[in-house]
Amino acid sequence: MDCIFCKIVRGEIPCAKLYETKNVLSFLDIGPINQGHALVIPKGHYVTIIDTPDDVLKDMIAATKKVTKAVKLATGVEGVNNLLNNGKASGQAVFHAHMHIIPRFEGDDFKIPWPAKKYNAGEMEEMRRKVLGCL
Ligand code: 5GP
Ligand code: ZN
Repeated sequence: MDCIFCKIVRGEIPCAKLYETKNVLSFLDIGPINQGHALVIPKGHYVTIIDTPDDVLKDMIAATKKVTKAVKLATGVEGVNNLLNNGKASGQAVFHAHMHIIPRFEGDDFKIPWPAKKYNAGEMEEMRRKVLGCL
């Protein structure tokens, strides 16, 4: 598979490895939002959370918890974002599913909270029904 994260899993490209299980691998992001920014990826090639099997996702979440705790302790930050982009429009640039672990401090340049929109009357219920219809 000609995918940069598959190449990392196979050891064809080096990474700053943090943690590994049968199903997942965690390593430092090469272009960190803040130092300590890490990723957790499935070892198999799945593009988004929707494609990733539930048992693998469970391992990803468990690894995310473990590495989030370690990154928080190691960097001394008070906040961490866990973020998973699905699809180009969401900002996904590497099309192999990955959870971001982003250490955060007050006044850094990563923009959260986002600009919140509003629902007009009835729109929220209409959206709820639409989503329910797709569950
Ligand atoms: P996305 O925008 O797809 O959610 O995030 C992809 C992330 O992968 C980016 O934060 C980027 O810095 C990181 N990345 C891309 N290529 C490499 C690589 O070869 N090694 C590592 N460690 N991180 C990478
Ligand atoms: Zn891949």
